[in-house]
Amino acid sequence: MIKFVRNRASQLLLKESGKNYVVPKNVSSLLIDQGYVQQSSSGVFQLLPLGLRVMDNISNIVHQELAGLGAIRVSLASLSAKAVWQQSKRWEKMGSEMLHIRDRAQRDYCLCPTHEEEMTRMVANVFHSSKQLPISVYQIGSKYRDEARPRGGLLRAKEFLMMDLYTYDATKEAAEKTYERVFQSFHRIFRAIGLPYTVAEAQQGTMGGAYSHEFHYLNEVGEDVVLRCPQCLHAANTDAYHGSIDKCVHCGGELLQQKCIEVGHTFNLGQTYTRPFQLCLSNGDALYMNSYGIGISRLLAAVAHMTHDEKGLVWPTAIAPWKIIILPASDSKIPDAEALYDSLAQTFGANNILLDDRGHKSYGRKIRDAELIGFPFIITVGESYTRDGSFDVLARASNTRYKLKAAQLHTVVSGNFA
Ligand SMILES: [Zn+2]
Repeated sequence: MIKFVRNRASQLLLKESGKNYVVPKNVSSLLIDQGYVQQSSSGVFQLLPLGLRVMDNISNIVHQELAGLGAIRVSLASLSAKAVWQQSKRWEKMGSEMLHIRDRAQRDYCLCPTHEEEMTRMVANVFHSSKQLPISVYQIGSKYRDEARPRGGLLRAKEFLMMDLYTYDATKEAAEKTYERVFQSFHRIFRAIGLPYTVAEAQQGTMGGAYSHEFHYLNEVGEDVVLRCPQCLHAANTDAYHGSIDKCVHCGGELLQQKCIEVGHTFNLGQTYTRPFQLCLSNGDALYMNSYGIGISRLLAAVAHMTHDEKGLVWPTAIAPWKIIILPASDSKIPDAEALYDSLAQTFGANNILLDDRGHKSYGRKIRDAELIGFPFIITVGESYTRDGSFDVLARASNTRYKLKAAQLHTVVSGNFA
């Protein structure tokens, strides 16, 4: 027998939405109402169990993909001394976007918005031979930005979770090859999440370097604008577009302007950071560096904005807090619901299944909550389960209903993966 603990909705710190609850138009409010996140102060958020599950699922897709690239994981401090940022001349360049802190001895620090400086210093301390190259190091951790007007919840927060990867190569050509490999890896990550996305040529901004690309979800709440050519699929951020904004530079096609949410960014940085921090080969040539970021907490909010509907949130199966929720039609069906849970756990893993064991809730409220929270597969255990082992399944995204037995569920769940 496989031993596991059943995941129970009663333990999730869910918020009670009243009988007359109306699904808000504002998706950030919906995430707060449904117990994914809580706002602590303007632009600062706490992650509740549901939100953390989604974030962990996104992180796991990233970890798995980067492990395939041979990237290794580290964790750098959030505090970084002013002198470090003066060395790269970014203390001034970052301006008021940077969160500053002064300690009791009047020493200045920032809460890192990114880690090019500190990562390059760290690697310089351990780099001794070109045989170590290429070096690929990454982390998933908190980043900070002093947003003047934080809005859109996790879309634009003061503290947010990022994956940041840094690669170092001996030559410009090798760095370009590494960039291409990571770029393909980013494509696999965004394909695994399961939503359509766009890649655009972008500007380097305060990052410096030679060239960069952005990964976007096209969405009206986004604050970036891309120009897309529907004929040759060329796309560029409006900030980075050098041609006329009507005609595609590649094929002359009519360009479309679309609002989008930036969820990933890749930078070819050349020697911008390796020179000032003296990360060099034995002959004195500085290494070539790239950096790459994925906004993990922003992705949570961006996906919610992309997929929600009039009934609430709709998660892609790959990152849903739980893939399957089981609802007993009444309290007397709890033993049957538990039996089905244990049986499905053999196929889908107990970690992917949640049982709504909340005793004080009517079945009607439970199914409404399951739709609001956005579980991909909502199972009801009622009379027919006792009779012949069949149960009702609602596929949330397509709003399709099935009457199934345990052995048939896998086909439906895997069909909806696509
Ligand atoms: Zn074109």
